Amino acid sequence: MNLPSIDQEYMLDFLTGLLNTPSPTGFTDAAIEYTENALKAFPELSCSRTRKGGLLVKWPGHRTDHPRALTAHVDTLGAMVKEIKSNGRLKLTKLGGFAWNTVEGEGLTVFTNAGNTVRGALLLCKSSSHVHAAATGETKREDHAMEVRLDAVTHTAEDTKALGIEVGDFVAFDPRVEVTNGFIRSRHLDDKACVANLVTAVKALHDAGLKPAQTTYLLISNYEEVGHGASAGIPDEVEELLAVDMAAIGDGQNSDEFHASICVKDSGGPYHHGLSNHLRQLADQHAIPYKVDIYPYYGSDGEALWHAGADVRVALIGPGVDASHNYERTHMDALIGTTKWVMAYVGE
Ligand SMILES: [Zn+2]
Repeated sequence: MNLPSIDQEYMLDFLTGLLNTPSPTGFTDAAIEYTENALKAFPELSCSRTRKGGLLVKWPGHRTDHPRALTAHVDTLGAMVKEIKSNGRLKLTKLGGFAWNTVEGEGLTVFTNAGNTVRGALLLCKSSSHVHAAATGETKREDHAMEVRLDAVTHTAEDTKALGIEVGDFVAFDPRVEVTNGFIRSRHLDDKACVANLVTAVKALHDAGLKPAQTTYLLISNYEEVGHGASAGIPDEVEELLAVDMAAIGDGQNSDEFHASICVKDSGGPYHHGLSNHLRQLADQHAIPYKVDIYPYYGSDGEALWHAGADVRVALIGPGVDASHNYERTHMDALIGTTKWVMAYVGE
C-alpha cells in the first residue's frame, strides 16, 4: 500500500481539542466522548465502550484471519482532593506518577461531584518569598508541602465545602497548549498526541478509500497512567497489539522531538522481537525515519495486557516527547512519522 496523505490541519485541530478536554485518570468520560464523536464521522467503524469506560473501535479489514489491535490512552496525570484544610485551601493526592514541582504554580480546575467547576492554582504552602525567604526555594515538594489556592472567597473548611468541594473531587491541571513553528507545547501530549495519530490515520485511509489489511481494533484506554488501561478491553481474537505512546527524551536517549521511536525495552523488559522487527522493516520500506530506543523508567498499556495474561505479540511506537510528565513538547515531524507508521502497519 502507498501511504495516503495526512490531513495535518485536521490532526492539529483534533489534538488541540483533546488536549483542552480535561481527563485525569478516573475522570475521562469527556475525552472518550470527544474521541468517539470524531470517529463517528467514519461510518465503516463501529464504536463501543468497555465496562470501565474505554472506547473500543472495530475497523473492518480485507481479511479476518489475523486480527490486530492498536491502543493509545486519553487519561492523563492529575490529582484528587485529599483534604480540605482549616484555612479553606486543599491538600491533593496525585493521580499517576509525577513530581509536584512540575505542576507548581499551574492553574487548575476542581470538578465537584455535583458537576460544577472551581478554578484555582497549585502552590507551595510557603509560596511567598517575602514571608518564607529561603524556605520557598528549599522546601521539599511533598504532598503536605503543597496546597490549592481556590479562586473563590474561602477562609475556612466550611466556606470551601459550601462551594460544593469534597474529598475525592477530581482536579485537572491546565494543559496550556501552544503551537509555534511546528512545535506543540502542552501538558498531556502523553498520550493525547498518539490518540490524534490513530484518529488521523483512520481519516487518511478513509479519505483515500482504503481499509486495513486485517480486522483491526483500536482501544482508546482510560487507566494507563495507573497501570491497568489495556489490561482489559482488547478482544480475545487479537493476535498482535501495537501500543502507541510517547517516546522518552533526555540524557542518554536516542529519541527526539522530530522522530517517531520504537521502544524495544522498558521497565517491563523487552517488547516482542518479531513484531518490533516487522515495524522496523515497514518504516524502512515506507521511508519513515525513526529511532530505536530503550526507556529506563516506563511502562505501557502493551505490558498491561501482557501482565493480564494475554498471549499476544506486543510492540510500542510513538512520537518523541520532551520533558515527559512535565510541561511537555513535541513537533509535527514526530506526529507525522508516527501516523505514517501506524498506517503502514495497518495497511500491510
Ligand atoms: Zn503514556
